[in-house]
Amino acid sequence: MCATPTRQIEDTLAQIRNLEAVNADIIRIAADNQRDAKALIEIRAQTGANLSVDLQENYRLAAVLAPHVEKIRYNPGHLYHHEKRKPWQDKVKYLADIAAQNDCAMRIGVNAGSMDPAKLDAFPADDSIAPMIASALDHCELLDSIGFTRYCVSLKDSDPHKAQDAYERFAAQRPEIPLHLGVTEAGMPPEGVSKTRMAFLPLLAQGIGDTLRVSLTLPYELKQQEIEVGRKIIADAEAGQSEETNAFDLNTLNIISCPSCSRVENEAFIDLAQQVKVRTEYAKAYAISIAVMGCRVNGPGETDDADLGLWCGPNFVNLSRRGKKLGAFKYDEVLDKMDAELKLLIETL
Ligand code: SF4
Repeated sequence: MCATPTRQIEDTLAQIRNLEAVNADIIRIAADNQRDAKALIEIRAQTGANLSVDLQENYRLAAVLAPHVEKIRYNPGHLYHHEKRKPWQDKVKYLADIAAQNDCAMRIGVNAGSMDPAKLDAFPADDSIAPMIASALDHCELLDSIGFTRYCVSLKDSDPHKAQDAYERFAAQRPEIPLHLGVTEAGMPPEGVSKTRMAFLPLLAQGIGDTLRVSLTLPYELKQQEIEVGRKIIADAEAGQSEETNAFDLNTLNIISCPSCSRVENEAFIDLAQQVKVRTEYAKAYAISIAVMGCRVNGPGETDDADLGLWCGPNFVNLSRRGKKLGAFKYDEVLDKMDAELKLLIETL
């Protein structure tokens, strides 16, 4: 996926070329608004890559973009934001019609951090996987009922064990539906690579997974490492490896950080994530989670479950402790605040 703001056309094209150079098969680009859509159409004119558009709240952008891309990805958890009174079924039918008219595939992209609230309410709070699967199954059934067959499903979680569980449980119920594997917000190498391998290798060994994406926080110019890591996982799986030999211990300091995308609000986010890792090195042995996210759209939801959460705006970084917001701080102030909170947390362990 391109981590650059889509409206930065030259930067995004440079990233596409880097990803193509290491044999990326499908390149995803996010579009949130008409400006992004216009940029994506210009990008399309300059690349022959297979493009997947990532729709978030603004699902109607599909009508503008479907003629220019090969695939549409939508998140069931984001469909309720716009036109709140319109049933999600009508929105999915609208997307499927547009996809069919424009020869596009679709991905139902379920994400643990941005779930449909109605689905969360229907299941016990201690089972985060059940609502993900139920949401995916509902969307599959709807697409099946209207005869739209060119779709796949992803069920992403930042916890590799939960991601594995979600894919296994879904595959047991609908083994014929293609699955796109992902551990979302796996973080930075090498831990992020290890977390991804922990989920993907056992899944691939069971024949689960048709496409995959590796989500790492990396500087823009190194983003192609995601593809290289993914290719290595496939090669290792084909060689018979069914589990990660260098597994990351989730009961130690776990930095969850997003891979960034067009919605990233300040490129300084990537440096911030790396600084968080450096500043927290002393706490490595503690079972504490810190989530660092690049935007205010997904930041709050994605950091709710973490002991400490940081999510970025253009000039300020929001800081939270176990879902409770502590304030917004400048980029050069937030690390000291986070460090003070981390020390307090360690005292309570
Ligand atoms: S948290 Fe925001 S910037 Fe990061 S990948 Fe998700 S949507 Fe993109």
